[in-house]
Amino acid sequence: MNNKFITVTSPLLPDLETFHGMLKEIWESKFITNNGSFHKQLEKELAAYLKVPYVSLFTNGTLPLITALQALRVTGEVITTPYSFVATTHALWWNGIKPVFVDVDPNTGNLDPDKIEAAITPKTTAIMPVHVYGKPCDTKRIQEIADRYGLKVIYDAAHAFGVEVDGESVLNAGDMSTLSFHATKVYNTIEGGAMVMHDEKTKQRIDYLKNFGFAGETTVVGPGINSKMDEVRSAYGILNLRQVDDAISARKEVAIEYRKVLRNVEGITFFDDIPGVKHNYSYFPIFIDEQKYGMSRDDLYMKMREAQVYGRRYFYPLISEFSTYRGLESADPKNLPNAHKMANTVICLPMHHALSKEDIQRILSLIVK
Ligand SMILES: *Cc1c(COP(=O)(O)O)cnc(C)c1O
Repeated sequence: MNNKFITVTSPLLPDLETFHGMLKEIWESKFITNNGSFHKQLEKELAAYLKVPYVSLFTNGTLPLITALQALRVTGEVITTPYSFVATTHALWWNGIKPVFVDVDPNTGNLDPDKIEAAITPKTTAIMPVHVYGKPCDTKRIQEIADRYGLKVIYDAAHAFGVEVDGESVLNAGDMSTLSFHATKVYNTIEGGAMVMHDEKTKQRIDYLKNFGFAGETTVVGPGINSKMDEVRSAYGILNLRQVDDAISARKEVAIEYRKVLRNVEGITFFDDIPGVKHNYSYFPIFIDEQKYGMSRDDLYMKMREAQVYGRRYFYPLISEFSTYRGLESADPKNLPNAHKMANTVICLPMHHALSKEDIQRILSLIVK
């Protein structure tokens, strides 16, 4: 038996020598941050790759969320999902906004549009959905609700790099979308992130806000923050963008292999591809029905760990269960039955570009009985 660790993800790394050549350029120019040439180039290339009008790079995926809420002057209450990474709700907290949790649709894991209206109060100013696992939200219905009640929509699209519906990027939905380029994501710049916006004026304003609000040497247009990406990670990002399509194709092969085998395992369910959607295969969550499968989620999770296969229970616990949020009325588990069920039954299987056929067989052999 191979005793190599298999982790849930593995970072896509650029060719070291090519990267070194770019580092030499940076060293020679002595221009290491503050909207340098690699930063400008990566923003342009990402906008073209993602099929969006404007991209503003950030130093991680949490700060564009915080900055989007600032830029749109979102206050009061915001409707959001508990089934996500904790940064989604933390971004609201850092803006003094009260999160209002709404349950998810069990067929997608995304905010259930049918439950949004009942959670709107006079204090609601925005909706912050997440395309969880990169599966697109019902952006049309969410926009209809937002328009009816005069709400902003900010998508946490940290999982949705490159995802398209009928040839259009999901990142074009809502007022703004944010991306994370953290090492664990499909496309990474080590740490990094971005905001996607529709017009040049907004791009300009965001570029000011991510640089302390500076609009010139002596002009500060607002209480900005420092969340700029540097030249070194921009160069790394340019190289990774050239190989991300191959990485996504390799991930797709893993998903095909997993589905082929797991389709016949009683008590295990997973998501299939959706017609018309270009997926990025960022995660491969499976859900365990303890009765039918004959083993609990946590027992399977531990069995895998003992065999050095490190799945992850994304997203358990729910954000609404953390101490900061669990006192909120909307955090009551009775309000969030679908989210709780998913959180209590999920394991994300290892999913990345470098999994070998042997790795996949080793993982599956632990699940198939
Ligand atoms: C990764 C992630 C973030 C945070 O991104 P960082 O780059 O780690 O700051 C935010 N939201 C979701 C849903 C994420 O998965």
